[in-house]
Amino acid sequence: MRAVDVIVKKRDGGELSLEELEFFITGFTNGEIPDYQASAWAMAVLLNGMTPKETSDLTRVITESGESLDLSSVVDFAVDKHSTGGVGDKTSLVVLPAVASCGIPVGKMSGRGLGYSGGTLDKMESIDGYRVDLSTEEFLEQLKKTGLVLAGQSMDLAPADGKLYALRDVTGTVPSIPLIASSIMSKKITAGANGVVLDVKVGSGAFLQSVEEATDIAELMIEIGHQANRKVVALISDMNQPLGNAVGNALEVREAISTLHGKGPEDFYLHCLEIAAQMLVLAAGAVDLESAKECIASSIRDGNAFSKFRELVAAQGGDVGQLEDPEALPRALIVESYSSPSGGFLAEVNAREIGLTAVELGAGRIRKGEPIDHSVGLVIFHKVGDQVEQGEPLFEVHAKDRESCEKAGERVLAAHKLSQKPVSPLPLFYKTIEHGYDNG
Ligand code: URA
Repeated sequence: MRAVDVIVKKRDGGELSLEELEFFITGFTNGEIPDYQASAWAMAVLLNGMTPKETSDLTRVITESGESLDLSSVVDFAVDKHSTGGVGDKTSLVVLPAVASCGIPVGKMSGRGLGYSGGTLDKMESIDGYRVDLSTEEFLEQLKKTGLVLAGQSMDLAPADGKLYALRDVTGTVPSIPLIASSIMSKKITAGANGVVLDVKVGSGAFLQSVEEATDIAELMIEIGHQANRKVVALISDMNQPLGNAVGNALEVREAISTLHGKGPEDFYLHCLEIAAQMLVLAAGAVDLESAKECIASSIRDGNAFSKFRELVAAQGGDVGQLEDPEALPRALIVESYSSPSGGFLAEVNAREIGLTAVELGAGRIRKGEPIDHSVGLVIFHKVGDQVEQGEPLFEVHAKDRESCEKAGERVLAAHKLSQKPVSPLPLFYKTIEHGYDNG
């Protein structure tokens, strides 16, 4: 078999066989097939697409390119969640302890933030001492003991995806539905999940802009999951405005703690309730969504979810004193409040602009590996549809110096658009998709 023949077949709209995909992806991963041929192949896939069978086969090949985590010795059914990334998305910090405190163990491998999209590991590292680099043995031991782990990738999971994703990033081939679906699902499968709740985000602060496109990707991921004998539910959620109020690492940990105490922003709480309940149902920890929501809500009301979070942080070496007193988490030197220059109804709170401003303040990174400042970020007080008065506080900037504070203030002010006519609030979710059946 020759790499060029595989490229030509895809260029001409053909369907690649499992053997052809195995040959090509394995060759690329071990360096026998050069980047320029893999780039041509990725572009042919972007332009001509893949059949669902091809996409499932591609996922299988990527999954088998490295090690896999086997959680079966520790849990009967491993449930996981995945968000396609957003602004202010600190959902895992609340959902994981809530699900674990309802009796379903969760061992999750998370990632770091890149661009306007924040990363769970960066948020958790706002807590002094919190270790994300657990060995596989430590990961399994902690899961057995506490029923909850939130760490980075401990083994070489799906190395083909890492290499292919880096190549797609610089060849304009990221936005391909089969390549995105296989990339995400290969990581979830190798991380040991038997069931996954996918949170597919749509809007200015997400990489998908339309509900239709998100639905196509979600349906494909569900199909890939079924082919691999995994249960998958996908929720299509809004990411036109930040989730909750806080954007920035320590600020988001504070908001997650408030939410675990039942005092978080309503949109964020309801978002967490839905994701957590879907995870419970998937793992058979509840018979239906209603009783699952009741379990999650009472675990928050009774303080059990917060205790579980505390247990998680203690197990991974974090300073639990900062959870008891969130003011002890990193704080920016400058905190400045900005008010609305006029009155009206909020028509837009542009999540992408807010995410990019947080990156500019130092809360995120443009390139992999760059350091971040855990203390800085933004607190956005209002949601689309809210009526605001002239002079009413709109947001707070947490910055390391005056200059970056002022720049951020102007940019975030411009990201708020007011209308003189009433504006409808944005939905939290657009639809739920299960078993390829769209019930939204
Ligand atoms: N996230 C991933 O993990 N992979 C993609 O291809 C796109 C987003």
